[in-house]
Amino acid sequence: MIIAVDGPAASGKGTIARALAEHFSLPHMDTGLLYRAAALNLLGMGGDPESEFAAARACDLSQIDLADPELRSETVGGIASRISAYPLVREALLERQRRFAAQPGGAVLDGRDIGTIVVPQADVKLFVTASPEVRAQRRFAELKRIGLDVHQADVLADIRARDERDEGRSAAPLRMAGDACLIDTSAMEVAAAVEAAIAAVERARAGRRRDD
Ligand code: C5P
Repeated sequence: MIIAVDGPAASGKGTIARALAEHFSLPHMDTGLLYRAAALNLLGMGGDPESEFAAARACDLSQIDLADPELRSETVGGIASRISAYPLVREALLERQRRFAAQPGGAVLDGRDIGTIVVPQADVKLFVTASPEVRAQRRFAELKRIGLDVHQADVLADIRARDERDEGRSAAPLRMAGDACLIDTSAMEVAAAVEAAIAAVERARAGRRRDD
């Protein structure tokens, strides 16, 4: 079973994807990490984020440790969000995601274009979202927790800028697949959101079995 989980930054999609992977005993890929790894590579190479060719060259991830905590930094996230608009970057990272999805038994992948571009044939597609204010509040709390001195208004502005870039780009923009199930986590605790996601997967699975 392939499960595609898409949604904007800080919507809870990563938490939900990890919980689904555990519940259904499937391997999980956080595809945002690949874009972040390319961004960190680009920084290390001293490359210009304004250059699509430099960014595409940074997509050779053989030297990158995907567990590097630096990948989670706001700086790296900001550059990832910018270079992910380049078609050459998306193309360079696509095969790796498709290979992961194609492994026997299936997989859970989360990102922005999993259900629309990476695996449009996914068995189950979820689109996880929440209001920008709620997402900013969550990101703010997370950054505070790790000791960063941030302002809530800046975090909200950053979330809005990221949404605009993800939704407005012409290459694989963030949008809900027509056959995805929408989960709005704005007023949900983590446990309730995970429960809703598991129920949505079970429903979609049952529906597919009836169709067979
Ligand atoms: O989800 P995360 O914040 O780690 O992703 C970093 C950036 O990578 C996002 O802002 C988004 O622009 C990009 N991304 C993407 N497609 C994906 C996953 C992430 O464009 N499938």
